[in-house]
Amino acid sequence: MKKNRIRLFKPALSNKEIFEIKKVFSKSWVGYGPKVKSFEKMWSKFFKVKHAVGVNSCTAALHTALAVNKFKKGKKVLVPAISFSASAAVVIYCGLTPVFVDINEDDLNMNFEDLKRKFSNDCVAIIPVHFGGHPCHMEKIIPWAKKKRLTVIEDCAETCGGIYKGKKLGTWGDYGCFSFEEKKIMTTGDGGMIVTNDEKKIKNLRSFSFHGWDKDPLLRHKKSLSKSSGKINHWDYDIKELGFKYNMNDLMASIGISQFKQINWLNNSRTNLIKLYMTQLRNCKNIKFTFPYELRNASYWMLSIRCKKRDQLIKYLRKHGIASSVHLKPLPLLTVYKKYKSKIPNALKTWKELVSLPLFPELKKTEVKYITNIVKKFDQNFKNF
Ligand SMILES: *Cc1c(COP(=O)(O)O)cnc(C)c1O
Repeated sequence: MKKNRIRLFKPALSNKEIFEIKKVFSKSWVGYGPKVKSFEKMWSKFFKVKHAVGVNSCTAALHTALAVNKFKKGKKVLVPAISFSASAAVVIYCGLTPVFVDINEDDLNMNFEDLKRKFSNDCVAIIPVHFGGHPCHMEKIIPWAKKKRLTVIEDCAETCGGIYKGKKLGTWGDYGCFSFEEKKIMTTGDGGMIVTNDEKKIKNLRSFSFHGWDKDPLLRHKKSLSKSSGKINHWDYDIKELGFKYNMNDLMASIGISQFKQINWLNNSRTNLIKLYMTQLRNCKNIKFTFPYELRNASYWMLSIRCKKRDQLIKYLRKHGIASSVHLKPLPLLTVYKKYKSKIPNALKTWKELVSLPLFPELKKTEVKYITNIVKKFDQNFKNF
């Protein structure tokens, strides 16, 4: 392995985050508290939504958003055949059945025609995934889902702040779920956020993500300090329905606040690097871009290309100190999802050609040039590989 190996992903962390972390350290309050609240406020303001709920992962966000709808066990949820496993796992957590929808060959997102084909009267929800940060056709999905009375949970784990047809991704559906896992657009180590305008569900969303408590622990704490605390039992709460330990804490929120302030830079630097990749590789005969990158107001997470000699290309890149990977194997090919298999010809064909290349805000232009020169060499000598 080369000494100066180029990583696939790398979080952009600096003294800015340390500065915010120091604040919560000096207060000795790193658990659930006021920082989570201010982080949530920043989000609801930015996304122009009524509510934002901080949680400890996007998986927790997706699970919470689905669970509060209390769908009857055994009902079905439409999920894309290519996604990170959590998009489908949460369906099973809720005692529901995932129905895998085939993808578009040209952007890996849910295929609208197949979505309509796979729909049945047992379907209760749909989880569109903006894969790699590329927006799904929400202008088609939303009106159709409304007609079918489906709850829409947008999996925005791979995008953050992108605008599609004038509307922020995550605000098209009933819920938008975001990830702050270390590799994603912005990070808190691990973490997630739910955004919604659903007034009826907000209490349950918060409660479900905190053990099922019927009272907000921070409000309880504030009551314990107030003058009238003699009259009320601030320590009292009830659990009417079981919840999970999914809340965010102030340590995560402090990192998140710092990262979120830099969201435009995080997105723009990736956008500019994608532009450079596109210019550099435009003449390649055997390399195609996986997404029709639309870079205005974009929030792309992944630089993905397609190549018929995928495995050879990955080996060649590794030999030259460049990390790469495959995002992702279709879910029905994984053992636990085999029993939910459905007809997904595009996914089965396309994934065999997928290669993701390094993309992160601090990736240097010279590094992109180095990477693309190696890819070009592979392309020019394609028949010898
Ligand atoms: C990463 C990812 C998730 C899970 O996010 P976590 O914060 O790690 O739980 C869900 N869906 C997609 C599409 C992802 O890429």
